[in-house]
Amino acid sequence: MTSSSLTTFLQRNLEELKNNGLFNQIHVLQGGNGPLIHINGRELINLSSNNYLGLAGDERLIQAAEAALRKYGVGAGAVRTINGTMDVHEELEVKLARFKRTEAAIAYQSGFNCNMAAISAVMEAGDAILSDELNHASIIDGCRLTKAKVIRFKHSDMEDLEKQAKAARDSGQYNKIMVITDGVFSMDGDIAKLPEIVEIAERYDLITYVDDAHGSGVLGKGAGTVKHFGLSDRVDFQIGTLSKAIGVVGGYVAGKRDLIEWLKVRSRPFLFSTATPPAIAAACIAALDILSNSAELQEKLWSNAAYFRKGLEQLGFETGHTETPITPCIIGDEVTTQQFSKELFEAGVYAKSIVFPTVPKGTGRVRNMPTAAHTTEMLNRALTVYESVKKRLGL
Ligand code: PMP
Repeated sequence: MTSSSLTTFLQRNLEELKNNGLFNQIHVLQGGNGPLIHINGRELINLSSNNYLGLAGDERLIQAAEAALRKYGVGAGAVRTINGTMDVHEELEVKLARFKRTEAAIAYQSGFNCNMAAISAVMEAGDAILSDELNHASIIDGCRLTKAKVIRFKHSDMEDLEKQAKAARDSGQYNKIMVITDGVFSMDGDIAKLPEIVEIAERYDLITYVDDAHGSGVLGKGAGTVKHFGLSDRVDFQIGTLSKAIGVVGGYVAGKRDLIEWLKVRSRPFLFSTATPPAIAAACIAALDILSNSAELQEKLWSNAAYFRKGLEQLGFETGHTETPITPCIIGDEVTTQQFSKELFEAGVYAKSIVFPTVPKGTGRVRNMPTAAHTTEMLNRALTVYESVKKRLGL
């Protein structure tokens, strides 16, 4: 029998979410996640995925995964330290290190557990973490797993970061101090001020940690935000995900050899959770091979994003201060923003609304993620839909 306290808890909280319009209805996709998707038998232009380079449906990745399925079977069988590690996982890590220009890399099952793993393997009681207030949930949870003091600094505010770093160092209370930032912030598409962050870090002896989930495969000729700024030797932890531009699933840390060795003996998701299926590792290797041989997909991604952004601006929309392919279309109040996204959906465009409390009140936006796989015809069709919804809502 279900405990009455659980029943009460669930009923009260689910009702509250539903009453406040915050209950997230998840759509079922009939088929894969590409530039076009199908929901309830209808085709929609997909502007909501992180499949930046269109690799999630790429034939070369599919073939690599199929061959690996035949060679290795479906599952990895066990944790890598218990049952031995497969050569395909080792090869993935060698290629990730090469991709990131670091000495070594370690692969995890997801970007989310990678942050939980890496932060908690290094930071401990008596340490402090300076964390950008807009950092991703997995960073926040990774910090919570440690006994370190967590100090938030204002988003990309270098004065505030320096002030907090100085205060933390001068207090003499802390041993290690780490600064953590996303490389690219996913709500606004802005890039972290890494050159300044690294300078402050060097001034106050901070460990540097950059989660480049949205920059890898996109910036720095694919190698990411750290490479974009030419800082590969000056950042300790480069975190990435294999689920966005790489098109598959998984996460990784790239860095110095002794850091990676430490994570292999101390980070808990590596030690206590079964490795990624080998076919998944093989598909990731195929994606990295594609990225290391050609910049064609990145170029297409950036030109599609520029085209779509310009199209929105020509229609009179505000697109914020994005510096990356993440393209917000600022609508304003929460109700109108949600209505706008709903009308887009009805007219065949899938683009999610993001409203308070995820973004400040009155800055509700529809977030668009154009990818390398969209054709100009698809983007034009989406822009026509934007224009008609704008007219219909009298904006
Ligand atoms: N870090 C950031 C900055 C992210 O945006 C995400 C994905 N939303 C993650 C980590 C988690 O990555 P994954 O989906 O691979 O678990």
